[in-house]
Amino acid sequence: MQIMQNERWLDRLKSIECADATYPAREPALVFSKARGSLIYDIEGREYIDLCAGFGVAALGHNPPEILGVYHDRLGDCPAIVHGMGDVYPSRAKVELIETLVGVMPPWLATVSLSLTGGQAVETALKSAILATGQSGFIAFEGAYHGVDLGVLPVTSRPDFSRPFLGWQREDSVIRLPFGAPESLVTNAIRSLKQSNSGFAGIIVEPIQGRAGGRLPPSGWLKMLRTVCDSHQGLLIYDEVFTGLGRTGRMTFAFDNPCDLLCLGKALGGGLPLSACVGSTKAMAGWPQSTGEAMHTGTFFGHPMTCEVATLTLSAIVAQDLPGRSSRLGLAVRDRLCRSLGAQVVEVRGDGLMIAIELSRPGQGVKAMDRLRQLGVIALASGDQGRCLQITPALNIPEDLLELALSQVEQVIGEL
Ligand code: PMP
Repeated sequence: MQIMQNERWLDRLKSIECADATYPAREPALVFSKARGSLIYDIEGREYIDLCAGFGVAALGHNPPEILGVYHDRLGDCPAIVHGMGDVYPSRAKVELIETLVGVMPPWLATVSLSLTGGQAVETALKSAILATGQSGFIAFEGAYHGVDLGVLPVTSRPDFSRPFLGWQREDSVIRLPFGAPESLVTNAIRSLKQSNSGFAGIIVEPIQGRAGGRLPPSGWLKMLRTVCDSHQGLLIYDEVFTGLGRTGRMTFAFDNPCDLLCLGKALGGGLPLSACVGSTKAMAGWPQSTGEAMHTGTFFGHPMTCEVATLTLSAIVAQDLPGRSSRLGLAVRDRLCRSLGAQVVEVRGDGLMIAIELSRPGQGVKAMDRLRQLGVIALASGDQGRCLQITPALNIPEDLLELALSQVEQVIGEL
């Protein structure tokens, strides 16, 4: 087969794909071909160190042999189940995944609803809260990213993404407050919602804002949200699609600060599309018993192959103590970058291996991302107006690769 160049493949895509769907990066253009661990290869065979793990998805790196090997062995047990008809007949793989997932969660988060994407997990959480409370008003936060499906767009704080669709949305059922807003602002917003037709169903929050550039809330803030929700009969929803399952050094923030509903995605499927809303008995109590047709479902929900890979992934994250590694390594990386870049950047921040470097001018994160691609490192821009460079490698990235990639990051930022 003739090997075509990155540019040519990108041109082929450009002519047939929706214009919004792909960043037309050039110089060099990059079209992925294969990947293993924390290394990715383009179609010309060029190697890249992956410092983003596919938006934080590949917690164990790409195609981890410990997962693929076991999965292939197990295929022998049930080769025929390609699709499990999730909301009608469950598969063994789905039961095992849900049991495994519940086993790594705090004990009160023991009811699971599976879906495919992070946005869908958030949608399930919002629906659960509406059903459980009989109210439909939510508090969300500036900078929040919860997905872009129409049902979740109102809680995502991206006016540039939602403006064209405002005619469709019920923006009046969401009050948006600054991330880290004081208790007085939160209680005032709850009172306004209670006086409106929406009422107060709950608060949705990312314990650390990922796409907004690794923004951490003030200490004690999640605890305050918990107290306020309890006083006003609302549910607290954590969107841990990005932060969850080890990325920030813990399986979930809910162990320290309890929430009622938890959204997981990204790392959960080990690279395959899988997400989950995990709730307390009370928060999930509004859902009716299915009598043959689920009220909330999707053709691929509970997909057996994906569930099988997810069970293996969760087990490996725990067995290899990747939350612990993420915590230790993340601290070391942030210390190093603070020392090496301190004077040149606004801030190096994050928790575990969710790290953001805030640069001084808009667009500098995108500039750094493009320059790093030229040097063979994949990292993404994030934050307001692309001001940040985001570092979210696989939780098991080999230290020598990380070291090499960080030197490139330091060089690129030094030259901005
Ligand atoms: N929530 C958070 C916190 C996210 O970071 C993302 C994706 N970046 C989503 C929700 C949406 O996930 P998906 O793109 O899989 O719908």
